[in-house]
Amino acid sequence: MTANTTNTPAIKVVVIGGGYAGVMAANRLTQRDDIAVTLVNPRPKFVERLRLHQHVAGEPAPVVDYQEILSERIQLVVDTATGINATGRTVTLGGGDTLAYDYLIYAPGSGSFDLTSISGAEEFAHPVANLEAASRLREIVDATPSSAPVTVVGSGATGVEVATELADQGRAVTLVCGKVLCPYLHPRVRRKFAKRLAQLNVNVIVGPDAIVTAVSSHAVQLQDGRELPSEVTIWTAGFSVPDLARRSGLSTDDTGRLLTDETLTSVDSDRILAAGDSASPSGMPFRASCATARPLGAFAADAILARLDKRQPKEVNIGTGFQCFALGRNAAIVQLASMHDVATRFSISGALAQKIKSSSYGLLTEELSKEARKPGSFTWRFKDKKRREKLNQRRDMTRQVA
Ligand SMILES: Cc1cc2nc3c(=O)[nH]c(=O)nc-3n(C[C@H](O)[C@H](O)[C@H](O)COP(=O)(O)OP(=O)(O)OC[C@H]3O[C@@H](n4cnc5c(N)ncnc54)[C@H](O)[C@@H]3O)c2cc1C
Repeated sequence: MTANTTNTPAIKVVVIGGGYAGVMAANRLTQRDDIAVTLVNPRPKFVERLRLHQHVAGEPAPVVDYQEILSERIQLVVDTATGINATGRTVTLGGGDTLAYDYLIYAPGSGSFDLTSISGAEEFAHPVANLEAASRLREIVDATPSSAPVTVVGSGATGVEVATELADQGRAVTLVCGKVLCPYLHPRVRRKFAKRLAQLNVNVIVGPDAIVTAVSSHAVQLQDGRELPSEVTIWTAGFSVPDLARRSGLSTDDTGRLLTDETLTSVDSDRILAAGDSASPSGMPFRASCATARPLGAFAADAILARLDKRQPKEVNIGTGFQCFALGRNAAIVQLASMHDVATRFSISGALAQKIKSSSYGLLTEELSKEARKPGSFTWRFKDKKRREKLNQRRDMTRQVA
């Protein structure tokens, strides 16, 4: 640690969002004791989002005390950031306070698709993307007879995990997938998924018309006019991010993620960095996941530490290599992927996959807690060599067009 020459830390860093990326970044910054870190988060507890599908199916709320995963040197402010003033270097909070910063890390994560764009969805479909939504949905599921039809819209990781969790309890689940079941998967691994879904009696609806166009209290309607009975409709398709960056006049990508360079520094201000699901380095965001959020948090913190040391920050280099899927309470498949996050024909299933998936939950919070105790200890070994190649290709194409 750097020696503190005065009693008051001189450098103020504000982190917006106490999720996987924000907590990792905040802890890592405590390597220097001349930095005062303030973490702003709307809830007093950390939410393990990747367990929310289990909460929907009856498990307790997956929350962890920040004391367990956050360095005691970090000040937690339970509030919501409502505006960023990049020129004045301040963040305004919903509760009325204003925080000044020397550096800001933007990590407010992601949420569900905007349901107002689908007829009836805002009223009759239920998202899973945050704790409050998952708790509400759980109450609705609990109050619904177990024989009643449940429809899960969207077959990405969240959709598949919710559908299989509920089907494992004997519920009558239909999974409306869109063109293909879980687009991320390699076709060979997709066949294994389909087999497992069939074992659980999940009614899988796939194809160009497997798109929900309207939701009512007792049914969903598909693009081709088909109507499926649905007493509980769960919406997992699509994705959104908080519009805080856009509202604050900062450059974003089309989805609203903060646009940065490859050092995760905002293209508008070298005092603002982004990490996690809300970051868009070079407009080529990583897959929204805990797997990328933690290393992105570490890179963003390292970039600030480098600037304070008058060093050039490193460019982000994060490979992925796999994605784990729970397929019911006692089964999982690990889809192996290239470092550039393209699924391969290889996967792990059976007891080993189940062990990997179930141990990953505790491992992630243990990593955050270790970074709190030993800041700077987190390492990410997977590197993606293809990203630079892709960025160069894109630059060449832009030059040719110009
Ligand atoms: C059901 C489910 C299962 C999943 N399973 C997996 C999985 O198996 N593997 C995997 O890698 N990923 C999984 N994910 C995705 C993963 O949870 C996210 O990609 C990950 O949480 C992103 O981390 P983050 O730090 O960017 O954001 P988050 O973890 O979402 O944290 C962001 C935090 O910022 C807070 N915030 C938002 N707005 C503001 C504001 N204005 N001011 C202050 N704070 C704010 C939020 O409340 C939240 O606490 C799953 C997600 C869901 C919903």
